[in-house]
Amino acid sequence: MNYDSIIIGAGLGGLTAAAKLAKTGQKVLVLEQHDLPGGCATTFQRKKFTMEVGLHEMDGFGENSFKKKIFDELEVFDNVEFVRLPEFYRTVWKDIDFVFPENFEEAKARLKDMFPEEAVAIEKYFRFILGLGLEIENLPRTKMQKRIKKSLFPLFYPKLVRSTLNTAGGFMDKLFHDERLKMILLSNSSYYHDNPYDLSLFYFAAGQNGYYSNGGYFIKGGSQKLSNYLMNYIRQQGGEVLLRKEVVSIITENGRAVGVNYREGKTMNSAEIQAYAGQVIANAAIPLVAKKLLHGDAGIRLQQQTAQMRTGPSVLTVYLGFKKPPKAIGNRIYSTFVIDDSISSAKDILSNAHAGFDKRSFVFVDYGMIDSGLAPEGKATGVICTMDYASDWKDLDKKTYRLKKAEVAENLISRLEKILPGIKKIIEYQEVGTPLTIERYTFNPDGTPYGYAQNLHQSARKRLSNKSIVPGLYFASAWSSPGGGFTGAILAGYTCALKVLEDTREKE
Ligand SMILES: Cc1cc2nc3c(=O)[nH]c(=O)nc-3n(C[C@H](O)[C@H](O)[C@H](O)COP(=O)(O)OP(=O)(O)OC[C@H]3O[C@@H](n4cnc5c(N)ncnc54)[C@H](O)[C@@H]3O)c2cc1C
Repeated sequence: MNYDSIIIGAGLGGLTAAAKLAKTGQKVLVLEQHDLPGGCATTFQRKKFTMEVGLHEMDGFGENSFKKKIFDELEVFDNVEFVRLPEFYRTVWKDIDFVFPENFEEAKARLKDMFPEEAVAIEKYFRFILGLGLEIENLPRTKMQKRIKKSLFPLFYPKLVRSTLNTAGGFMDKLFHDERLKMILLSNSSYYHDNPYDLSLFYFAAGQNGYYSNGGYFIKGGSQKLSNYLMNYIRQQGGEVLLRKEVVSIITENGRAVGVNYREGKTMNSAEIQAYAGQVIANAAIPLVAKKLLHGDAGIRLQQQTAQMRTGPSVLTVYLGFKKPPKAIGNRIYSTFVIDDSISSAKDILSNAHAGFDKRSFVFVDYGMIDSGLAPEGKATGVICTMDYASDWKDLDKKTYRLKKAEVAENLISRLEKILPGIKKIIEYQEVGTPLTIERYTFNPDGTPYGYAQNLHQSARKRLSNKSIVPGLYFASAWSSPGGGFTGAILAGYTCALKVLEDTREKE
């Protein structure tokens, strides 16, 4: 069977790329190994609870933002409901209990009130982040614009250049003296990377700008709603999305990717089916493409290109179903970052991410604080989430793995109990998802949802482009440019589709 484009994986990057290409008239085939579309952007049912797998919050939709343009074009806003979060987050650390407002002018004022001696630096901080956001909005998009601006890039985009040469932690150290202020601003840095002193300022500042400027959002009913909508949109545009179909290899001819071999998902013995296309787009993890799906010279070249690249950290989640919403026992905030008291400065964040679960900092997200649509009337769901690493779980036998999961849940819930007395008593259901769970459902190596680490050395332009070094093969995922998270994967999918369309036009 021949297609214009075959997309391996129905994560947000794959779905967005396929939706744009199908809308433009391409004949597309999306192959997904799981029985649901969405990758990390999925939900699962337990009792009457809908558990959200991969969305705490996504940054909002600035009038001129690229994401808003994409969602407008794909008619997402008419079909998926977004719920604005009441505040950004709460930080609890030692004597600090700070609620970061979702309005950045108010955030600035409250931080200046609390840290008057840092007022000038606070002003500079927000000016830099918001300025970077404006530069990103005005990035050259067409080939012509890119040509004109290349030599003048540092002149037009000084903050962007600076952000790719600094770490988030280094930037904070240059600006601020008070560790409490740094910790408040870095509370959610774990959403980007495990070490603020290795985290590229570009990823941190670009992401934070989205939240500071446009607020945080949840998808009503869970992220599965967005993934399902995109799948149905592709089908309405004449595209095919096949679930439970695992791609086992990419077919190359004269060094060019021309198709794939796939089989019924999870059935090792089913016959392989061939499908051919003008190009192949991998939403699947790039290391997987290099080591498993591409054979021969093409695979070796991609392995060599990526040999030095480091994979990002993973996360552990305790999924919780509550008999009654935590607000009934006094919770007031959607997401609370609990920074452990053993941390004395931002420099300790990395070692804390590897500490025991009796000390590891965590975030508690209470979906019951908004109209999330995840639980029946009078009940609620929530998650406790921490940084985590597949290597700490890999060699455990089944029983030890199960016991460790139970122990970790007990530890984290007991620590939450100290902040929110009574939480234990209202838990009706609990389940732990480890990095290995993420790996099992998405095939992402080491269960990383963010692709290659968003560190200084793999920042922005150093990230793999959407067009691979193998002719006919493209990338649309958190692993490729621009990066991870919902917004990153959606932008990766769309820019990948634009690249494919540009190359197709040039060929014609
Ligand atoms: C617990 C958790 C919390 C998160 N919280 C947030 C958050 O609050 N905000 C935010 O912005 N981001 C968050 N993220 C990150 C975000 O969800 C991901 O970065 C993003 O969804 C990744 O999208 P992707 O397109 O790269 O693909 P993925 O979601 O990784 O999906 C890849 C898809 O490819 C499929 N696939 C792989 N190999 C094959 C094959 N051989 N054949 C067929 N199919 C294949 C997989 O099954 C999968 O469906 C979170 C993630 C997790 C896990």
